[in-house]
Amino acid sequence: MKLWLFGIYGIVGTTAIAGNKAIEKGISEKTGLVSELPDFEGLANFSPLSFDEIGGHDIRNIESNLYEELFKHWEENQHFDYRILKQLKEDLEKIKAKKGTALNCGEGVLEELKPIESLENENLSLEEIVDKLEKDLLEFKDEETVAINVASTEPTIEYDENIHGNIENFEKAIKENKKEKFTASMLYAYVCLKNKIPYANFTPSIGSNIQALKQLAEENNVPHAGNDGKTGETLVKTTLAPMFAYRNLKVLGWMGYNILGDLDGKVLAHKENKESKIVSKDKVIGKILGYYPYTITEINFFPSLKDNKTAFDFIHYEGFLGTKMKFYFTWDAIDAIVAAPLVIDIARFLNFAKKKGQKGVIKELAFFFKSPMETDIYNTHTQYQMLVEWFNKLK
Ligand code: NAD
Repeated sequence: MKLWLFGIYGIVGTTAIAGNKAIEKGISEKTGLVSELPDFEGLANFSPLSFDEIGGHDIRNIESNLYEELFKHWEENQHFDYRILKQLKEDLEKIKAKKGTALNCGEGVLEELKPIESLENENLSLEEIVDKLEKDLLEFKDEETVAINVASTEPTIEYDENIHGNIENFEKAIKENKKEKFTASMLYAYVCLKNKIPYANFTPSIGSNIQALKQLAEENNVPHAGNDGKTGETLVKTTLAPMFAYRNLKVLGWMGYNILGDLDGKVLAHKENKESKIVSKDKVIGKILGYYPYTITEINFFPSLKDNKTAFDFIHYEGFLGTKMKFYFTWDAIDAIVAAPLVIDIARFLNFAKKKGQKGVIKELAFFFKSPMETDIYNTHTQYQMLVEWFNKLK
């Protein structure tokens, strides 16, 4: 099985690959991997834990290699034991990114990640950009290749039914070079689904979440999933909110205040890049409770925290006899450490889905996402049951 990552030089991408290699070498435990739980025994017969080959696109430091890029993140964060990193040098140096596209990725990306090295800087048309991306993937892929978007969060783009509504018009607009109607994540998803490569969107960017690409996935019998990895505050929220529902307690208000540093935090400090993330985090409470209490969801850049993300949540709720009470929690995690194993899990389950003839949105993978596609189930417990049942039915 092979893995392709869009945004491969980011901290989530590099950490996922480092973890995968460390487990392969027997120098790290499998802690954090959902796909290694006893409930999923037998998955390895379809999707082995280690990847035969890893590649990806990025838009920075194209001449570099994965070890150098991971080392930069490590110097900032020291997010795992240096003895592990040291032993991976030789393997990771062999992995190099291909030049991707930053089309309509917003000021957050263009300002904070400069100098940007991307295909549109070479004055290529949309069709030529797509051709280049496709060429990279065709050179890499085999029958068991999965691609995951772990690139920086893009701004949302206005949905245009005439272009995004069906695949014929989508492809026509590419030929007509209508660049303003596309974002990088849409082009990546398109190239994957067109070439029967299962695709997952770990970010809140659009990715494959438009009608045209959902149609393409169905027609090409290829599975896809997204959006936005559920790793931290939202994981706790969607695990805890059901408790209020089960005990018939009325949630009056829920405030979540997130602070983070690092590149992701820098990009999210820009309003248009942040917007898609907030929408993704905000709606889950109402979906679980069946009513929409007052919510505040804030994300702010806090440079010295680096990849250490802290979330403060305050819940105001009402109990028996109308008495109002309060609940507070603080989530304090290393963002890449909670995200990286999920990248491996999602890849393995998507490859399994493809082998089992599954196509279109795999809604049973909702467990891994903040904004799962094609389902209204946000309750983490129910999502986990869905995943287990789906696996047992297919295996
Ligand atoms: P990061 O800034 O460290 O990495 C992003 C990488 O993507 C960088 O190497 C950047 O150069 C690259 N990139 C940006 N735009 C690109 C493009 N158009 N094409 C190819 N590469 C591009 O961020 P991160 O902390 O690794 O997070 C990655 C993504 O995952 C973000 O969108 C983040 O919001 C999302 N996410 C992270 C978590 C988590 O860390 N717990 C949870 C859910 C979602």
